[in-house]
Amino acid sequence: MQIVDPAQFAATLRSSSVPLVNFVVPCYNEQEVLSETAARLCRMLDDLKAGGKLAQGSSVYFVDDGSRDRTWGLIEELSAQRADCCGLKLSRNRGHQNALLCGLMSIDGDALVSLDADLQDDLGIIPSMIDSFVAGNEIVYAVRRRRDTDSFFKRWSAESYYRLLALMGVQIIFNHADYRLMGRRSLEALRQYQETHLFLRGMIPQLGFRSSTVEFDRAERFAGESKYPLNKMFALAWRGVTSFSAAPLRAITGLGAIVSFASVGMALWALFIRLFTDVALPGWASTVIPMYFLGGLQLLSLGVIGEYLAKVYEAGKQRPRYHVEAIAGQWQR
Ligand code: UDP
Ligand code: MG
Repeated sequence: MQIVDPAQFAATLRSSSVPLVNFVVPCYNEQEVLSETAARLCRMLDDLKAGGKLAQGSSVYFVDDGSRDRTWGLIEELSAQRADCCGLKLSRNRGHQNALLCGLMSIDGDALVSLDADLQDDLGIIPSMIDSFVAGNEIVYAVRRRRDTDSFFKRWSAESYYRLLALMGVQIIFNHADYRLMGRRSLEALRQYQETHLFLRGMIPQLGFRSSTVEFDRAERFAGESKYPLNKMFALAWRGVTSFSAAPLRAITGLGAIVSFASVGMALWALFIRLFTDVALPGWASTVIPMYFLGGLQLLSLGVIGEYLAKVYEAGKQRPRYHVEAIAGQWQR
């Protein structure tokens, strides 16, 4: 019997050893950086094509996430200048995860690399990512080596968050965001998911497939400001928890059990004081404090249950996650 090496098998599924790799770049109000990003990406494409590492058809796809500045105008100009640059404009701002999904759902090729528009993701590791893909890895995760370009707060909160997710049983790649390469088979698998609340960095490791990581140092944003203010960051973090784990609901059950046990203890203590001592009960404090405490606990618990219920409600509506308003250049589908 012939034993098939998985890597070789994966390679035979590909059309050739020079893969056609497309790049998807979600952009929201990125007029300050887009020209530079496009110039560097195009230079890289030209070099890799000339060096025989990328197939000639490999292209860059910009997804404009309903920008209100000149971003779309710049994408149109670029698409008119180069056949291997094109763009798609969403009808309004749907958030980074939806814009990225739009690209992942609608672009073909042997593989797709997703990256940010602000040049924080080091383009220098793309050849290594392609090598890893050609060697048989279906998904290649770019992982941050250090976080010294982040503020202390961002570094601490991000790392604690990754640890918390891991503790709650969410499978996640430590220090990896959305800079990654995905092959055609994993993209087809992702396309079968119908999730409303997207947290792609949690969904993609769930797909399985052979994968690898490539380390990089994340640069400072080239220009402009972060499009992920604290509230968006918090929303994404909370989505990561509630879309992948029922741990908060279970924690409520646990908390309820602890409080119940404690109240049985309290009752026994009160009974003991009443029956066996003649000390007057300090009535007010011992009544009012547990009342507020339990009231707060109940409201908090209802709130967490409500969060999950709201998710079911929103998912039940099955609304489309984005609408396309315009296309520039040779966008595929
Ligand atoms: N982005 C987007 N829609 C949004 C917010 C951000 O498409 O509503 C894009 C943004 O243009 C960038 C990427 O998502 O390409 C990451 O955003 P940013 O660099 O501002 O996030 P940070 O690196 O500060 O976390
Ligand atoms: Mg950034």
